[in-house]
Amino acid sequence: METTLAEAFPSASEEQLASARDLDPQTFGADGQWVLPFRAFVVVGPDDHVTIVDLGVGTSTSPAASWAPGQGRLPDGLTELGIAPADVGTVVLTHLHDDHVGWVLGRAGVPLFANAQHVIQSAEVAAVADDRTICEATVDPLRAAGLLRELDGPYALRPGIDLDPTPGHTVGHQSVWLSSGDDVLLLTGDVLVHAIQLLFPEVAYAAEADPVAGAATRRRVYDEARRRRAALATSHLTTPYIATPP
Ligand SMILES: [Zn+2]
Repeated sequence: METTLAEAFPSASEEQLASARDLDPQTFGADGQWVLPFRAFVVVGPDDHVTIVDLGVGTSTSPAASWAPGQGRLPDGLTELGIAPADVGTVVLTHLHDDHVGWVLGRAGVPLFANAQHVIQSAEVAAVADDRTICEATVDPLRAAGLLRELDGPYALRPGIDLDPTPGHTVGHQSVWLSSGDDVLLLTGDVLVHAIQLLFPEVAYAAEADPVAGAATRRRVYDEARRRRAALATSHLTTPYIATPP
């Protein structure tokens, strides 16, 4: 992606950028370019139910292909885990940006996870109504296939899997809390897109839909993560799992 970190986070000070660089140096490329991975998460259980959270950048013809580096490899990753697309029972989409929905459609141009309900906040669906590129790659084919499940607010998806509206990055963004006994993990989605927003919750990303809500969301979920001793699972930091700073 041809964006510098200074452009992506225009309010960040040199000192804040330096601290973020100490925490996640690999996201700082040549000439200050932002280098970012793209990540999806697979949750197995309870009862062997397979849930995927986010669907990456997708095929070479997906909406993200114009800017994302190379073709996504989510199906290959699932195969390595012994999971076929038909085994997936639920897909949670944190939001409808093109780097999180790429494999809604497979190479054949039809929904890849044909046995999965695709769970999205209705506010997010409403927000993309005028974006034909995204609708034709996500909402329209899912709705036609009976695979779109819209939610309004917090939702207990399955035991130990709770969906939490986290607006800011987009208006209908949601995150996922996983819990098993005392072990808690927060799949953040794009509540934070870079280490600088982990260290400094007030620093907005230039493309954030609502920077005030985004900062409030970060403070709230970081507080809850610290209280519950939860680790964070992020989409775009170099390390998949990271603790919330004290
Ligand atoms: Zn993203």
